[in-house]
Amino acid sequence: MKKSIIIALFAGLILASCTQKKETEMKNPLLQKFDTPFEVPPFEQIKVSDFLPAYKVAMEENAMEIEAIVNNTEKPNFKNTIEELDASGKLLDRVSYTFNNLNASLTSDSMQDIAQTVAPLLSKHFDDIALNAKLFAKVKAVYNSREDIELSPEQSRLLEVIYKGFERGGANLSADKQERLRKLNGQIAVLQLKFDNNILAETNNYKLIIDNEEDLSGLPESVKKSAKVTAEENDLNDKWVFTTHKPSMLPFLTYSDKRNLREKLHTAYIMRGDNNNKYDNKKILAKIASLTTAKAHLFGFDNYAEYVLDKNMAKNPETVFDFTNNIWDAALPIAKKEAEELQKLIDEENGGFKLEHWDWWYYSEKLRANKYNLDEEMLRPYFELNQVRDGAFMVSNKLFGLKFKERTDIPKYHPDVQVFEVLNPDDSHLGILYMDWYPRSSKSGGAWMDAFRKQSEGVSPVITTNFNFTTPSGDKPALLSIDEVETTFHEFGHALHGLLSNCKYNTLSGTSVARDFVELPSQFMENYSTHPEVLKMYAKHYKTGDPIPDELIQKFKNSGLFNNGFVVVEYTSAALLDMNWNTINDTVQRDPTKFENEVMAKINMLPEIIVRYRSPYFSHVFGGGYAAGYYSYQWAAVLDADAFSVFQEKGLFDQETAKSLRDNIYSAGNSKPAMDLYKKFRGSEPKIDAFLIRNGLN
Ligand SMILES: [Zn+2]
Repeated sequence: MKKSIIIALFAGLILASCTQKKETEMKNPLLQKFDTPFEVPPFEQIKVSDFLPAYKVAMEENAMEIEAIVNNTEKPNFKNTIEELDASGKLLDRVSYTFNNLNASLTSDSMQDIAQTVAPLLSKHFDDIALNAKLFAKVKAVYNSREDIELSPEQSRLLEVIYKGFERGGANLSADKQERLRKLNGQIAVLQLKFDNNILAETNNYKLIIDNEEDLSGLPESVKKSAKVTAEENDLNDKWVFTTHKPSMLPFLTYSDKRNLREKLHTAYIMRGDNNNKYDNKKILAKIASLTTAKAHLFGFDNYAEYVLDKNMAKNPETVFDFTNNIWDAALPIAKKEAEELQKLIDEENGGFKLEHWDWWYYSEKLRANKYNLDEEMLRPYFELNQVRDGAFMVSNKLFGLKFKERTDIPKYHPDVQVFEVLNPDDSHLGILYMDWYPRSSKSGGAWMDAFRKQSEGVSPVITTNFNFTTPSGDKPALLSIDEVETTFHEFGHALHGLLSNCKYNTLSGTSVARDFVELPSQFMENYSTHPEVLKMYAKHYKTGDPIPDELIQKFKNSGLFNNGFVVVEYTSAALLDMNWNTINDTVQRDPTKFENEVMAKINMLPEIIVRYRSPYFSHVFGGGYAAGYYSYQWAAVLDADAFSVFQEKGLFDQETAKSLRDNIYSAGNSKPAMDLYKKFRGSEPKIDAFLIRNGLN
């Protein structure tokens, strides 16, 4: 999931207080109550020019709410301080959520300009709250009296989360350290933006231009067609263009017979940000690593990973290293064997060369076709987009009793978007779900879930999911790849986490959970997407309506672990690179190339595989957000495999287990620490066994 940066601790809900509204504000739809079904944003009324003024009013209003808490002359207590904080910022949320979602799904130059203008304003706004000494004194007074006041478990949790949020924001630091922190935060934010912009420029600037049809040898028709479209978009008629964007690059690496061109394209990909030009990221990332370490030192931690992990399930770097190294040790020999098999295939063809990183996709695809007689194109007819979507709906119905009603009377921001009202088993309203399936130039890549409105007591959620899937063409509907099928269920799992949320407080609701826990609800749902029993229910041929044949399911299952050593090694090496960068204890700036090479040598990385993200384009780490957090997907995979094993034992839709899953995971938000929630569901801490078996690492 891509999470919006602005979901701050203070994101809350309170109705606009009664400021004297100027006439312009009265006309700004973002500043009025949304007069639409379920109060979804009135998209057709909102103009791009409405956002900046709305942001300014909303920030002012939020500042006034904070002032009101600070100036309250009553003794600080849970209600007048903690609950008020949770409830503050409703207008700012409404503006931010609407803007962020539209900027991701329907952006434009003017939207991006607004984003650039607003980012520093918001950063200052939230720093002003986080470092407001009078406000923190009140929060601290309530926190220190927590033993003596009567609070529900959710209230205790809210108090703890808000107090810790202030602590992590620097409220407990001395004045000079706070000053230093503000400076560091500012410097880091600017460098992170620069780091990401450089990657974008390097990715957009490179084109592999093919003007000779012979050089397309091996490529399927659909791949050639897309390359032609890309060429035409670049005013290169009668040519074909491939880029370092993965949807363009991976099919080329998989199917192109031209080894020298594969080398060219993949080398361009792995050298992004490392070309010693004006977009070079090496100095920037070295500086970021140094500044984040300095930030950790301010808080008394040895390194940045300690600062980050303190609030995650994993708690500390040792746990993450132990966890990740175990997986690494199990996966490395498997990947080595895979490399040997590929070399054998090259030798059998009298290739006369050693397997290199640009060969891996090409030869593994050949080997897969030989071994399993399975081509992905054989599967697609059974995965028409709307049927896959209904398959995901059906699973949530069988587990939780949810129903989905398509609504055509609810505003949407683009005609391609589908809108559903989600109903409880008793037909009462649960929330709204937007599903935005297809790519367009105004939309970010990848897939993600987000909220237009988070759930809290008396407030129903408005959730959105975004994809960039295969589009319908001619008389053919959208027929999805297996990867796209899994992605549908994944994002739908995040959506359920937002929709089923049943928390009193906005701060704790939905997906506002520890980073290494947030992928559990999403990855859990993936287990259903390709389970044979479930496939039989929803995977029907788009023309004949016949269910997917058993032998096709069998072939697919047989090939399930094929090439998995590569997948795990590519991912895990990146998790280890991330952890190595973030466990540096001093602020000396490293030479990134040397540092990365040393890490790869230390873990005995295979020369035929390149780490999934090299440092100069490791945006998770240096673009902000996921530093010391890339291990999270695998961590959550242990949880989801362990959780799903209960259903494998008791029945895929066992109602008692499903109720416990709903109560303790999908509805619980951050109302308890993640491990407590998990143990309540499972009865014990997660075991790694199911994950190892699923990945063939046992
Ligand atoms: Zn996710």
